[in-house]
Amino acid sequence: MASPIIRVADPAAGFRARRVQILDAVARSFDSGCYILGDTVERFEKAFAGYIGVAHGIGCANGTDALEIALRTLGVGPGMAVFTVSHTAVCTVAAIERAGGVPVLVDIDPRTFTMSPASLDESITWVKASRQDIVPSVVLPVHLYGQACDMGSIMDIAGRHGLAVVEDCAQAHGGRYEGKLLGTFGDMAAFSCYPTKNLGALGDAGIIVTSDSRLAERARSLRQYGWNASRISDFPGVNSRLDPVQAAILEVQLAELDNDNRKRRDVAKLYESLLPRDCLVVPQVAAWAEHVFHLYVVLCDERDSLAAYLAERNIGTGVHYSLPAHMQPAYAGRVALAPGGLPATEAIVGKNLSLPMHPHLSEEDVRCVCDAILAWCGERRSS
Ligand SMILES: *Cc1c(COP(=O)(O)O)cnc(C)c1O
Repeated sequence: MASPIIRVADPAAGFRARRVQILDAVARSFDSGCYILGDTVERFEKAFAGYIGVAHGIGCANGTDALEIALRTLGVGPGMAVFTVSHTAVCTVAAIERAGGVPVLVDIDPRTFTMSPASLDESITWVKASRQDIVPSVVLPVHLYGQACDMGSIMDIAGRHGLAVVEDCAQAHGGRYEGKLLGTFGDMAAFSCYPTKNLGALGDAGIIVTSDSRLAERARSLRQYGWNASRISDFPGVNSRLDPVQAAILEVQLAELDNDNRKRRDVAKLYESLLPRDCLVVPQVAAWAEHVFHLYVVLCDERDSLAAYLAERNIGTGVHYSLPAHMQPAYAGRVALAPGGLPATEAIVGKNLSLPMHPHLSEEDVRCVCDAILAWCGERRSS
């Protein structure tokens, strides 16, 4: 008999677990008669901002739009440099260009895979000294895989150079840096609620948070044609509104976020205790981070062989990401890179493998994944 399928992420399992509450919330949203923005969206925006501990939440159609609107709110446009990492979901880089800005891609820390403060500092200094065509404007750190960047150093560097900060929190809802929730450090932060994210809708959704009322008002206007209160466009905007049905679903999911993150951490703990260290490198958690394990990414020299072995045993894996942004055809050869290049980013290409990680994995599932990996390692050792 074929073993059951263990998925790398499983939003449908989340839906099944909360089917009644979710369908009820969706019905109430339809019954309200309001199909664009309105009370349901406002309630979720307030609840999410309250959870993060900031004053304002601005719901958007997806996380990429949330990043673009946050950047535009801070004045990013042509000729303005935005510093981020190449090792991220490509949407981070796409959002910068959509806002009209110029991405400058910096290297990562080889242990945590998040933005290297040293590479950031060098890149800003290099742009100021030798790129007369662009002006440094925003630092965009990505709390990748659910782990906080070195926000102490990054905020210091941004402050020293006079740059604004937008946090990409798409993978880190509920994650913390030195006990403080992510999304509270930058001038603004953008979250994606793509179905597999730690706080997932059942469709596209995203949200911006900020404690600055002026920025909140501008972002709110930008997401809807640049309208002011009289529905006159004060500046050119976009249409990127959070759908009330997704807001209703997200309200249900938000109530479970801390529980879900706890389960993700339990899964990580079990992996940490069972996985062999001689054929793969397990994730390193920085001392400052409360990791929420959006993804559980190991490094393995023979990644594709391991992935194929697991697939044969009905165990799903993923690769996040197969190529950093600067090596993808859309950006290769034309996007600006840190003066020292991106050696740590390029060193993990071909090695990173995402193991099954979601709140609905059972202990038995995790043991099954680890047993299969141990068996694969055993075969390597003896060959
Ligand atoms: C998912 C994600 C986004 C954007 O999300 P969408 O909702 O798919 O637009 C941005 N940045 C990172 C790091 C992500 O993982």
